[in-house]
Amino acid sequence: MRIGIVASEATPFSKTGGLADVSGSLFKVFNKLGNETYLFLPYYKETRSKINDVNKGSKISIKIGGKNIEGRILSKEISKGMNIILIEQNGYFDRENLYGTKEGDYTDNAERFGFFNLAVIESIKLLNLNLDILHLNDWQTGLIPLFLKENDMRIKTLFTIHNLAYQGNFQKGILELLQIDEKYFNIDGIEFYNNLSFLKTGIVYSDFISTVSPTYAKEILTEEFGERLDGILKARKDKLVGILNGIDYKIWNPEKDKNIYKNYSIESLDLKKENKFYLGQKLVLDFHQDPPLFGMVSRLATQKGVDILVEALKDLSKKEEIRVVILGTGEKNLEEGLKALEEEYKSKIRVIIGFDEPLSHNIYAASDFFLMPSKYEPCGLGQIISLKYGTIPVVKETGGLKDTIDNFNDYTQCGNGFSFDEYSSEALANTIKRAFKVYNDRTKFNNLRKVAMNCDFSWENSGKKYLELFKKMMR
Ligand code: ADP
Repeated sequence: MRIGIVASEATPFSKTGGLADVSGSLFKVFNKLGNETYLFLPYYKETRSKINDVNKGSKISIKIGGKNIEGRILSKEISKGMNIILIEQNGYFDRENLYGTKEGDYTDNAERFGFFNLAVIESIKLLNLNLDILHLNDWQTGLIPLFLKENDMRIKTLFTIHNLAYQGNFQKGILELLQIDEKYFNIDGIEFYNNLSFLKTGIVYSDFISTVSPTYAKEILTEEFGERLDGILKARKDKLVGILNGIDYKIWNPEKDKNIYKNYSIESLDLKKENKFYLGQKLVLDFHQDPPLFGMVSRLATQKGVDILVEALKDLSKKEEIRVVILGTGEKNLEEGLKALEEEYKSKIRVIIGFDEPLSHNIYAASDFFLMPSKYEPCGLGQIISLKYGTIPVVKETGGLKDTIDNFNDYTQCGNGFSFDEYSSEALANTIKRAFKVYNDRTKFNNLRKVAMNCDFSWENSGKKYLELFKKMMR
């Protein structure tokens, strides 16, 4: 098959979160399973240093709000059958960040990603790509199925929702800017409470819809998780599937990871501890009595359960000998809340604000437990990465966390992590205490680690599921 993947970020070219890991991995996996693969991305400032020798490209000119906006389509075959296609438009994409600053989203995101969607259509035509499938990801690609229809281009589309809460809703005026016919602006079409919704457009006009775990695929049909789109999703229920994300074990492998202090494997688990001492030295945390280390690497968004975490840690840090290291960046109030907590418990808690890939690897390797108390979680990668590093996840039972983590049962000794059902600081604190107890029983804890490290969430399986779906779509 000839498959195009369109995303607003993909590793190693650009990344703010899990979407990048997923699209970057699928790019490789589809190709490995015998398909010609094309990855479409905006050419951001941060992408420039990550790829060289792109060709000079073809010029394009796209009408935005009555003006012709010039750009270029750059391409490169990075290995056999793996082609990257970069949409260059410096005014839109040569900026410090992908989507916005601390102060908020870039105010012209509708225009930027509207341009990106139109440029993808242009590239497919210009380069004669002859694609069988277009795999679209999240709201930043949501207008593409509509533009394909308008251009009478019959490529089958799968629209994958990585997070239903990010919808790309903009004022109606954007229709004119992007020259979208008013006839689509109705409740069965692209309108969403008087706004144009990129996400809803993707849901309505694509051939199939998927999301990133089977549980989240069910949850989004309910009012609680449906983000006001449960109605339209229910109407398209027979075209909605859930395919679990995987991780790339070439990148995430404690045996080979070049970012960590000491490599280790299931056979040399004792060495894992050296990573903890190393991190302790680096962050000035005392691990003398070998207290358990709880790590967290996360976007700091309300979704991620930071509010209950702060409450739970306030209580626990008073009474227990625990250590906590949190790496994250995001909403200002959450960053401040965590920093204040660190200030209060300086000898126990470290909070590092920022996006730091090497440090994230060190935290996965050094920690005994990984905290992911998300209110909702479409799939989640942190818990899957942690399992591979023998770092036991502590999660709320929701979405992909539910599909990947089995609560440890002290009696049967089955399970690969610790989980709780009710979204509250008490439930989280009790679960951390349970984890603490198992940590103190070294035989039990080591067995649990081995079970975790043996879990397999590689992309092969999920990649095959996507390909089966593509074949079905083409039939
Ligand atoms: P989401 O996509 O909602 O952000 P996921 O768990 O699916 O959450 O994926 C998050 C990915 O981003 C993981 O690979 C995680 O390690 C990485 N990540 C998140 N925050 C940071 C950070 N501050 N520094 C480095 N990596 C981060």
